[in-house]
Amino acid sequence: MADVDNNENTKTVDDTKKDKVIKFSDLGLGTEVLKAVTSSGYETPTDIQAQAIPALLRGEDLLGQAQTGSGKTAAFALPAIQNLKFDKTVEVLVLTPTRELTQQVVDEFTRLGKFKDTKVVTVVGGQPAYRQIELVNRGAQVVVATPGRLLDHLRSKKFKRFSPSLVILDEADEMLDMGFIEDIKKIFSYTPDDRQTVMFSATMPKAIRKLAEEEMNNPKTIMAKNSGERHKDIEQILYIVNRKERLDALVRLISSEDPEKALVFCRTRRDTDDVCIAITKRGIRARAIHGDMNQSARDQAMREIKQGTTKILVATDVASRGIDISELSHVFNYHAPDNKERYTHRIGRTGRAGKKGKAISIATPEDIRQHYFYKQQPMDKFKVEVIPSRTELKDKYQDKLIEKVNNIEIAPEAKEFFSQLSSESNIEEFFCRMFTCLQKSESVKGPNKIGLSIEEIKSLASRPQFSGSGRSGGRGGRGRGASAGGRPRRGAGGGRSSGGERRSTSSGGGRSSGGERRSSGSGGGRNASGGRRPGGSSPKRSSGGSRPQSSH
Ligand code: AMP
Repeated sequence: MADVDNNENTKTVDDTKKDKVIKFSDLGLGTEVLKAVTSSGYETPTDIQAQAIPALLRGEDLLGQAQTGSGKTAAFALPAIQNLKFDKTVEVLVLTPTRELTQQVVDEFTRLGKFKDTKVVTVVGGQPAYRQIELVNRGAQVVVATPGRLLDHLRSKKFKRFSPSLVILDEADEMLDMGFIEDIKKIFSYTPDDRQTVMFSATMPKAIRKLAEEEMNNPKTIMAKNSGERHKDIEQILYIVNRKERLDALVRLISSEDPEKALVFCRTRRDTDDVCIAITKRGIRARAIHGDMNQSARDQAMREIKQGTTKILVATDVASRGIDISELSHVFNYHAPDNKERYTHRIGRTGRAGKKGKAISIATPEDIRQHYFYKQQPMDKFKVEVIPSRTELKDKYQDKLIEKVNNIEIAPEAKEFFSQLSSESNIEEFFCRMFTCLQKSESVKGPNKIGLSIEEIKSLASRPQFSGSGRSGGRGGRGRGASAGGRPRRGAGGGRSSGGERRSTSSGGGRSSGGERRSSGSGGGRNASGGRRPGGSSPKRSSGGSRPQSSH
């Protein structure tokens, strides 16, 4: 198999764009499918679609590196629908890691297949098996399934006709990570030998390449153009706190960042519930999502975050798989991810479709020294910053309060109340009381200072455990405290008096401005290390033999 990262045949849409802008109609799709594309509001193909669709229409096996948000679902759904023969069997099988992703794939197939009268059936756990079997046997062309439940059905031999000529593994790395490898191999054994096989994966660990080698036939490998730089729109910030301060830090950071929508990642289901309850008690509207919840509770949480009635979703890695929430401005790593692939998945949920996103990690010094993720991860992508103190955020909240008051629509009875009040009481005193009352309800809570100071971070950063692969020195000493960028030290003239300047620094703890911060390195922020932590850090299906014979 050609190497995914170095495939000469990998042509990005940009290469082709040099000649002309690619349209959906250039890709070989038929009228009904193009009509569905237009009615879905898709104007131009995404990079992964432009690369994948022609190859899939030709019947080639395909190994694609792309993540949620790249348009990968339509990239495989459109050619799959186009190639349907309607020959009274299940023709397309899509395997996904979670029920949520299954639903998203079903929705996309249904939408894009509506002018070809495509029947799509969901096969997942937690729903009555007999109903799924009945729907498939009534004549579905497409089955979208999670591996466990599908395998149960295949073993029970209840499907009348099941010989998918196209098998798609969506988020293959996630499925392998969840331990589905044996189920997947077994499922392959129920499919025809000469099937077309497609795998999409956000990351390409060895296990994926191995599976591709075993199960695919000389696949074309493609990579979403921005795969390598897919985090370029995501600011990655690290805050270091003491063990007991983790929750205070999260609450403070949510308050200071004021995310449009955010996902907070926790290690376990229990942590997810605990964190959700704790931040809700502190006035932050949040919902948890994890595997112990029943489907309707999970759906409810998803609906609330999508509609915006809840801004914060607290999740485990597993529960968040495949979740596509637009306008996700922030991802918080409350607990460290297990490894860098998981980190990639987590933070890839923000910074989508050219929008800026922020990935905020909260870690203790012990995490930095001992946690597998931090030891494994080259750390120079992080900006290490100091959590804004309550005093620092006071100005910001005052501004917000004034803005809120200025934007509010005046109630009809307000003027009457005012004239009554002004004749009876001291209006200035009343205003001051009212303002204080509002300020109290809006103000930042929790201890004034949370997390390590700039000096403590620097002292930690000088230790070898922290600096990882030893690229130390070069960028050290450019933090907020000793900043070359002129950011005042906290408590050393950086207080209220610096009015306008404070305002620009307070949001997100001293960002000069969204994107600049990444490129400016040491200049603009409160980051402890100037944006760089010192140091860091064609498969062939063997002809005939290796693929088991289809038993259906
Ligand atoms: P996916 O990567 O498949 O999860 O898709 C992410 C989102 O992009 C989904 O909400 C799709 O409906 C949307 N989408 C897919 N293809 C296009 C396109 N060509 N233009 C605009 N939006 C798209």
